[in-house]
Parts: sequence; structure tokens; C-alpha cells
Amino acid sequence: MASSGMRTGGGGGAGPRMSAKMDRLGGFSATPKAAAGKQRLSSAAGGGAYRRTSSGPLPAQGGRSSSDGVSSRVRVAVRLRPRNAEESAADADFGDCVELQPELKRLKLRKNNWDSETYEFDEVLTEFSSQKRVYEVVAKPVVESVMEGYNGTVMAYGQTGTGKTFTLGRLGEEDTAARGIMVRAMEDILADITPETDSVSVSYLQLYMEMIQDLLDPVNDNIAIAEDPRTGDVSLPGATVVEVRDQKSFVDLLRVGEAHRVAANTKLNTESSRSHAILMVNVRRSVKGRTEMDISISGENGHSSSMMGSFRPPIVRKSKLVVVDLAGSERIDKSGSEGHTLEEAKSINLSLSALGKCINALAENSPHVPVRDSKLTRLLKDSFGGTARTSLVVTIGPSPRHRGETTSTIMFGQRAMKVENMVKLKEEFDYKSLCRRLDIELDKLIAENERQRKYFDDEVERIRAEAQCRIAEVERECKITLESEKTKYHQEYLDSIKILEEKWKIHQQSPKKQVKESESTSNDVGEVDNLLQNEKMLRQSAEDEASDLKNQVSHWKKLEATATAEVVKLRKMLDTEASQKEKLEEEIGVLRSQLLQMSVEADETRRSLDKGDGPGKIFPGLDSLVSQTRGSQPREQNNGPKQPIAKLFEQVGLQKILSLLESEEPDVRVHAVKVVANLAAEEANQEKIVEAGGLTSLLVLLRSSEDETIRRVAAGAIANLAMNETNQDLIMAQGGVTLLSMTASDAEDPQTLRMVAGAIANLCGNDKLQTRLRGEGGIKALLGMVRCGHPDVLAQVARGIANFAKCESRAATQGNKVGKSLLIDDGALPWIVKNANNEAAPIRRHIELALCHLAQHEVNSKDIINEGALWELVRISRDCSREDIRMLAYRTLTSSPTLQAEMRRLGIKIL
Ligand code: ADP
Ligand code: MG
Repeated sequence: MASSGMRTGGGGGAGPRMSAKMDRLGGFSATPKAAAGKQRLSSAAGGGAYRRTSSGPLPAQGGRSSSDGVSSRVRVAVRLRPRNAEESAADADFGDCVELQPELKRLKLRKNNWDSETYEFDEVLTEFSSQKRVYEVVAKPVVESVMEGYNGTVMAYGQTGTGKTFTLGRLGEEDTAARGIMVRAMEDILADITPETDSVSVSYLQLYMEMIQDLLDPVNDNIAIAEDPRTGDVSLPGATVVEVRDQKSFVDLLRVGEAHRVAANTKLNTESSRSHAILMVNVRRSVKGRTEMDISISGENGHSSSMMGSFRPPIVRKSKLVVVDLAGSERIDKSGSEGHTLEEAKSINLSLSALGKCINALAENSPHVPVRDSKLTRLLKDSFGGTARTSLVVTIGPSPRHRGETTSTIMFGQRAMKVENMVKLKEEFDYKSLCRRLDIELDKLIAENERQRKYFDDEVERIRAEAQCRIAEVERECKITLESEKTKYHQEYLDSIKILEEKWKIHQQSPKKQVKESESTSNDVGEVDNLLQNEKMLRQSAEDEASDLKNQVSHWKKLEATATAEVVKLRKMLDTEASQKEKLEEEIGVLRSQLLQMSVEADETRRSLDKGDGPGKIFPGLDSLVSQTRGSQPREQNNGPKQPIAKLFEQVGLQKILSLLESEEPDVRVHAVKVVANLAAEEANQEKIVEAGGLTSLLVLLRSSEDETIRRVAAGAIANLAMNETNQDLIMAQGGVTLLSMTASDAEDPQTLRMVAGAIANLCGNDKLQTRLRGEGGIKALLGMVRCGHPDVLAQVARGIANFAKCESRAATQGNKVGKSLLIDDGALPWIVKNANNEAAPIRRHIELALCHLAQHEVNSKDIINEGALWELVRISRDCSREDIRMLAYRTLTSSPTLQAEMRRLGIKIL
């Protein structure tokens, strides 16, 4: 049995979900329902099996929208053909295989007597549905959409003989009510367009065995499909396109196309049911209200047109309605029996099966849709899954004999209902039209411009003519005025001549008297004239002379000025010279007085030394001349010499003083060397003196000077410089020892000898210079100086020997010296022994120390014993008033085996 009813999935109460109300966007009207295309199941009462119901409709307003367009599901209607005569006869005993419930938009497919399946469609059209109604529910919404600028597709699918062509292609010439979708669609289109701005054109094609044939020009039987690589839009550039202006011409075209289709099929030995017929209607509409060109041509005043701002290109909508009468959907095995080769059959159905596959893929939202598998699917690319609004009518027959085909047709329709398109407005800027309009406007403007130019030229010509007229007039007026003036003046001239002539006549009557007067006057005047000339000449010459003199005076003045300047300059130079000379004289005076003062002081010192009241104790360190001077004067008065010397040093400068050492004048030399010696006494000056070459100059004096005083003072200065180790090296290097030795042997003055001895004694204290000093006769010179017997000299000699012995002892201890003492070698020991107990304490102490140093080394022991120095050592160890020396002597004696042995031999005992 048939199913007892339908379950509405989510429970009861949903009521009728579809109505026959028209929906402009959605095509078939629909009440909202979620998830378009989602299948709903209903179970058969009692049968237990689930029965299929149709997918739900789209939302009323066409579904979701995006920038790509508005979502719109493919609308599917099912149409049942009435039984034909044959069926009425053959199937008289059987019921129809389908039962329609148009008010519920449902179709029941009877599987057998007790079972059926129910399907929902967007529209269910019974066998009684009129062609008008079919058009209105299936195609009209699509046609309206096309008129609004969207692409649209109306397609019929179904088994051969079920009424596809009846639905789409009936021309209805005999019976108006029989007109099919194509004719009705065109009627609506033509009624809606504006012939001035819009256009409609059609192509009519047949697709058979994957060949596209032009039904309006059948020779053209292999038209290529072109695809816009940018937009993906498909077109058939090779197809005939005929512009349609009225319904009649369109119907004629359809008729021609149909005739060609029949002829072609006859020729190809096929049937129209094996081919797909495709009508393409291109609608091109201008969008009103947005295309107005706000162009106004300028008026006569030449002021502009308000063309600006409105050169927006007009907008044009180019939409396309495709009506497809598909080949019969019956299976190949059935049609194959009609004598087609398998290959042909395959080709015939290739496009159809490809369409089925594409719709399946789209229904299942498969990522790949095999659009490119056939020409049909390529042509219908926009219709399924594209941007077109698509409406499909599936046609079925009532006969139970074709239940299989009917079922497959219904299933195709069900799947197609799940396909979502994204309808998109096919609107674009119409640049071509803009261009045309602009061209027209431009031509208008050119024409207007030409007119204005002509007007302008005419105007110029008119003004020029006017001006010429005026000029001529004025010229004429001028001429007249001129003439009248001329006449007037001529008259006046004639009048005045007349008056003059009359005057002349009067004048002529008394001429003689006048002649006389004038003669005497002219004589006087001549004389005065001569005088005047003379006077003038004299004055001229005087003036010349005066100017000459003036020139001379100015010349001389110039010369005088130059001379005066010269004199002033010379006087200035003279003044400068004089003041410089004065300064120098002053300086010399100061120097002289200072030198004098110093020499007086030095002499006083010498005198006091000579008198013997000088300190015998100028040791230790060689006291400077300043020290001597100090010693001879009360301390309070003693600021005198030092201050001027220091001052002198600052004022005059060391170089100048040193240069005076080489002065020609002996007096100056003496004073200079005294000053240098004074300076050398100050440790602070020593380095400067040496740096400035003072040491060398002093050594030169020592060698070359005949003057004893100079040599003495120079030796004193050298002695002072020799306190410094660096200077000791320099003195040695410059042969100082030899010079000092020479001075020592020549000199008689004990003070000279004291200075020389002091200098050598200082050198004796330098460890490094020992050998060289001795080699250059330093020790011999020292010992030679004892001849004078002056205690000051002896003290210096003793100091020198002590220094030398100490250094030797140190060197021997460090292993730097082997062998006997050089002092012993040079015969110093006898003098040492002789003066070991000198009454002058400084001499004695130095000698005691020297003896101790010598005795500390075994090499010297023998000589010490032989020369009798042992006794002196023993004495020192016993009696020396200085404890340190006493102890040193004791240690020396006790530590020397040789001396110990000798003492034992002599029976000397020390404690
Ligand atoms: P198809 O194009 O699907 O092969 P046709 O349109 O040629 O089928 O129809 C086959 C036959 O059925 C035709 O004679 C046609 O007049 C008839 N026919 C089809 N549909 C109807 C209908 N709805 N009412 C009356 N006759 C119909
Ligand atoms: Mg047909």
C-alpha cells in the first residue's frame, strides 16, 4: 500500500511547507527551512522502510549572500505528461506509476501495489497543468531575474516522449495556450525592454555527439566553446547571433532552428531526442538613472559647459537566459536497440552522464566537479554551481512500464535540488557607450566652436569697418579745422606786414640825425673794446703764472712732507738704539759691580784663609766658595753675596756667565770663574752648569790658564761638581784626573792643592772608577800633594785614601777585585802608617778607616805587617776614641789569620 503519510522529520506540526506563492528571487516560493538541500526521510507506515522525501526549499529571500553573490538553490519542478493514446490503451488496466500531491508539492512513486516513495519538489505539475502555469512557476522567475541582470537557465530533463520539447519549445501558432517556455519567455523579455537603450539577441544551437551545431546556420556544425580566462565566462563566439526586436521574428527563428534541427537529424540519421537543443538569449540593458550625461553645450556667451563630474561611464547589464531541451535521459541499452552503434550511444549520452556526475558532485559538495568532461557541462558551467539562477523541470510519463526511467528522472531532479548557485549581477561599466556618447558630444562641441568662431570673425570685421568710418570722419573734420586756421593766420600775417610797412615809411622820413650820433658812439666803443682786449690778455698771463707757481709750491710741499717723515723715522730708530745702549750699559754696570763685589769677597776669603784663621774643618764635602765666604763673614751680613749671585744668575743667564769664562780680559775671566764656582756650590745649580757646558769650560781653564787663582777657583768648582756621581763620570771621561794631577804637581798654593785634593778625593769614592783613577795617576797625585804639609790638604788626601780603600774593600768582598790593594801598589802605606796617629782628627780618622779597610783582606796582610801598620791597627783597636772605628779595627785583626799569626809571633794580645 501506499504510505500512510509523511513524517516531517523533527516532529509534527510543520504543516505545508511550500505554497504556490511566487518569489521573485527564489523562483518557486518556499517557506524558510534550514539547510537547503538536506534530505529528509519519512518512513512508510507499516512498511518499516524509510521513504525518501524531497529536500527542503530555500529561504524565501534567496538565502545567504556574500561578495560573490546571493546563494540560490537550483529550483526543480516535476511535470507529468498525460497518458497518450497508446498508454491509455496499453495501460488501461494499470494505474499510473506516480501519484501527485501538487498542493503538498509531493510526488509518490509507486514501487508496487503496497509500497511507494514520496518526494518533495519545488513544484509539482500535474498532467492538467496548463502551459501558462508551467511557464509561470518554472521559467518566469528566471526570466525576471534575467531582466534584472542575472544569468538564468531553464532546463528540461526526462525520458524521450515525456514532454520536454512540449514544455519548452512549443510555438503555439495554432493554439496560443499551447505556447511553450521559450516563446513565453521572449514575450516577457520583449515586453520589458526599452528598445532605445536595450537589446535582445539569440543564438540557437544543437549539441550532438559532442559537436555544437548552429541551428540558425547548420553549415556551422562544430562551434568551439570559448572561455574568458579572467572571469571563466563561457561563450560561443562562432555561433550566429540574431538580434530580436519583435515576437514574430523570434518565433520565425525558432521555427527555422527547429526545421534545421529536423533536417540535420535526418541527415545524421538520428532523432532530435538524441540531441540537446540550446537557446541562448542575450539581454543587454542600460541601467536607467545612472547613465545620464550631464553635458550641456555652452551658450552664446562662451561660458562653459557643465560637463564636469559626470563622465561616469553608463552601467550596462548583460545577462543571458539559456533554455536547454536535453536529449532523452533513457538508458543506453534501451536506445541502443534503435540501431546506433555503441560509440554513438556513448557520445550521445556522454554529455548527459557528465551532467549527472556534475550535479551529484555539486549536491554532495564534492571538492571536484567534472565540468570539463563534456561540452554540455562546460556550456552549463554557470547554470549549476555558477552564478545563474537555474530552474529545472523534470518530465515524467505516467506509464508503469517506464517506472525505472521515471525513478531515475525523479532522482536526478532530487539531486539537482541540492545544487547551490551564487547568483551575481552581470553589471559592468559601458565604456564603449560612454565613448560613443563622448564622440557625439565632442562633435557637437566642435560644431559649436566653429559657429562661435564664425560669429567672432564677423564681429571683428564689423568693428573694424566701424572704426575705419570713424577715422575717416575725424580726418575730414581735422582737415576743415586746419584750413580755417591756416586762412586766419595768413590774414594776421598780412595785417602785420602792412603795419610794419607803415612804420618803415614813418622812419624813413628822419634819417640824417640818427647817422651822426651813431658814428661818434661807434668810435668810442672801438677804443674801449681795444682796452678791454688788452686788459684781458694781461689778466690771462698773470693767471697762468700764478697757477704755475702754485704747482711748484705744492710739489715742494710734497717733498718736504716726505723728508720730514724720513727724519721722524730716523729719530725714532736713534731713540730706540739709545735706549737699548743705555739698558746694556746699565746691565754692564750691574754686572761689573757684582763681579767687583764678589772678587772683593773672594779676596777677603783668601786673605782670611792665608792668615790661617779659616776653618781647618771645611770637611766633609768640599765647601763651596760661598761657604768659605760665609765662614769669613758674620752670618747676618752674609745674605749679600748669595742674593746678588742668584739674582745675577736669573738676570744674566748661565750661558752669558759661562761665555765670560773665555773673555779676553783676565779680570773678567777671574770674576766669571768665581761666579761659576759660587753657583756650583749650590747643588741645585750643578746640573744646569754641567748641561750648559760649564764643566768642560772649567776643565779647559784648568788646562790652559796661567793664572793660579783661576786654576784654584776652577778646581774648587770641579771639586763641588765632583760630589755627584754622574759628574764624576763626566770628569773622568774628559780627562779630568790627568788635568787635576797636572795642577797638583804645578801648584804651590795650599788652597789650590786643597781644591785639587778634594776633587780627587771625591772621585776616589766611586766604585767604578777605581782602576782608571789609579791608571791616570790620581793616587800618585794625591800622595804627591802631601808635600805641602798643609793640614787641609792632608785631610783631603786622607779622605781620598779612605774613600779608595773603602771601595776596594767592597769590591774585594764582592769578588770583583783580586790581588793587592792599588794603594799599596802606589806606595801609600808608608804615608798611611806615618800619619795614622796624626794630631789633626780629620786626618787621623780617615787614615784609621783606610787602614781597617786594607787590613780586611789577606792579600794586603803581608805588606801591612812589613810596613809596620799592624802596630797601628792594634793601637786603633785599643785606643781609638771612636768606638765604631775601634770595633772595626778589632774585628779586622781578629778575623785575619795572617795578622793573628803575626800578633801571636810578636806576642801582641788584643782584647
Ligand atoms: P520529448 O521532447 O520529451 O521527447 P515531446 O515534447 O516530443 O517529448 O512529447 C511527446 C508527445 O507527448 C508529443 O506528441 C506531445 O504533444 C505530447 N505531450 C507531451 N506533453 C504533453 C502534455 N503535457 N499534454 C499533452 N500532450 C503532451
Ligand atoms: Mg523532444
